[in-house]
Amino acid sequence: MSEHSHQQRQQKLKEKVDARIDAAQQEKGLFLIITGNGKGKSTSAFGTVARAAGHGFKCGVAQYIKGTWACGERDLLSQHGVDFHVMSTGFTWDTQDKTADTQAAQKIWSACKTMLSDPGYDLVVLDEITYMITYGYIDLDDVIATISQRPSEQSVLITGRGAHRRLVEMADTVSEVRNVKHAFDAGVKARQGIDW
Ligand code: ATP
Ligand code: MG
Repeated sequence: MSEHSHQQRQQKLKEKVDARIDAAQQEKGLFLIITGNGKGKSTSAFGTVARAAGHGFKCGVAQYIKGTWACGERDLLSQHGVDFHVMSTGFTWDTQDKTADTQAAQKIWSACKTMLSDPGYDLVVLDEITYMITYGYIDLDDVIATISQRPSEQSVLITGRGAHRRLVEMADTVSEVRNVKHAFDAGVKARQGIDW
């Protein structure tokens, strides 16, 4: 391609992008979902929290599964005014105690509902909440109603595999992280600073 036609093409592309930027006039809090089987969902959510907190916005994070595990982002971000609600007791893969798990999930969900009705929060992250919905620990209709009734300037971000179709439909932005390969499948241990 000649230098000239390359330039012409780039100019056309720029005009198109500029037109789309001008057309996007709506201002509102967003509902985002990061789903899929690949690695990068929670790290993306925490990256967004770092971005928002860096602008001085108030953020709250609920961790639905790995609460009792160490978490580098939690240690860092909680020092910078980010509120964390962690599902610490009750939920364990080992006991398979549905009543205790439901109670643990409900407890943190009620803290989430408080954040999701408080306009003081600019961003609320519900990390791994998709599993709670899949297992029936938290009611899908309740989640949908709570998210739709949240303050209009508030953004909410959900992570976890298998996001429900109805959540995907109502979200503004949905990204699916595809697994191309993962070190774990080759027998490599989860690594501090990379995996948690
Ligand atoms: P991360 O927290 O690294 O962004 P994630 O949130 O996308 O990962 P989860 O399903 O929440 O993924 O799993 C969390 C843990 O499982 C992480 O330690 C991650 O490295 C690991 N993991 C993620 N995807 C896979 C995969 N496809 N195979 C094996 N392990 C995975
Ligand atoms: Mg995750």
